[in-house]
Amino acid sequence: MIRYTLHCAKGHDFESWFANSAAFDKQKKRGLVTCPMCGSAKVDKAIMAPRLGRTDAAKIEPPQAPAPSAPTPPNATVGSMPAVAPSKASVAMMSPQERELRQKLKELRDHVTKHASYVGAQFPEEARKMHYGEIEHRSIYGEASPEDAKELNEEGIEFHPLPILPDEYN
Ligand SMILES: [Zn+2]
Repeated sequence: MIRYTLHCAKGHDFESWFANSAAFDKQKKRGLVTCPMCGSAKVDKAIMAPRLGRTDAAKIEPPQAPAPSAPTPPNATVGSMPAVAPSKASVAMMSPQERELRQKLKELRDHVTKHASYVGAQFPEEARKMHYGEIEHRSIYGEASPEDAKELNEEGIEFHPLPILPDEYN
């Protein structure tokens, strides 16, 4: 086999393989060698030297295989690796904006905890007393179970969850 770099009358370059140089001449004469880009049968060998498809040459410099950049198929390790990452891992990369928001949440939280009285588990009771005018209004913070929070909400008592920052669990 012999590969020729061919050149058509319109200036396209392309490569084609032939059994030998005589085969190329014969096919060309019969108009069988056509440019893949424009279909012109007016083709000729380009000036550059044809590369011979000899075995030894092929070993050193193999013919350009199509699509070497195609993604390699994954190794056949069926069942060894989950296709989807476990949903448990809730990690995040924070953008500058998120860092800023996080900082603001922290400031808010610091402000509240600094200026309000901590009432702990008494929070629902204290909040209720204030709401119904049994005690004077003041800023408090503490804990409320989801049920407490729901009840307070239903009674129209305004309160806000304190932002909890992830690293405060550490
Ligand atoms: Zn052409």
